[in-house]
Amino acid sequence: MKTVAIVEDNPDNLLLLRVLLQEHYQLREYTDGTAAVSGIIANPPHLVLMDISLPDICGVDILEKIREQESTAHLPVIAITAHAMLGDKEKILALGFNFYISKPIVEPSQLLAPIARLINPDRRPQLQTEA
Ligand code: MN
Repeated sequence: MKTVAIVEDNPDNLLLLRVLLQEHYQLREYTDGTAAVSGIIANPPHLVLMDISLPDICGVDILEKIREQESTAHLPVIAITAHAMLGDKEKILALGFNFYISKPIVEPSQLLAPIARLINPDRRPQLQTEA
């Protein structure tokens, strides 16, 4: 079973993500940025779901730290955020996220489809050349 790290400080959002994903993936949960940076770099998952608004380090800065490390430089990271605090989807993708999902998640496939697509690049070789 592939491992997905969830970085999310809101208990309700975390619960929803856990319920939707736990039967498909082994989950590691981080509720603040400091724990996420150290945990993800020390023990890289197959994919990260990243809230942007966190109590200590914002998701964009966490992504930057992940990308600086050779072992996690190419890790798929999906931004999940409630509102466009950073602007639009294109801006978030330009920051280096592999995909963007807006909250609230109303349909499980909104979450499951992009995770499956990014976590199995061998099935979709063309993804390796996408930003
Ligand atoms: Mn948050």
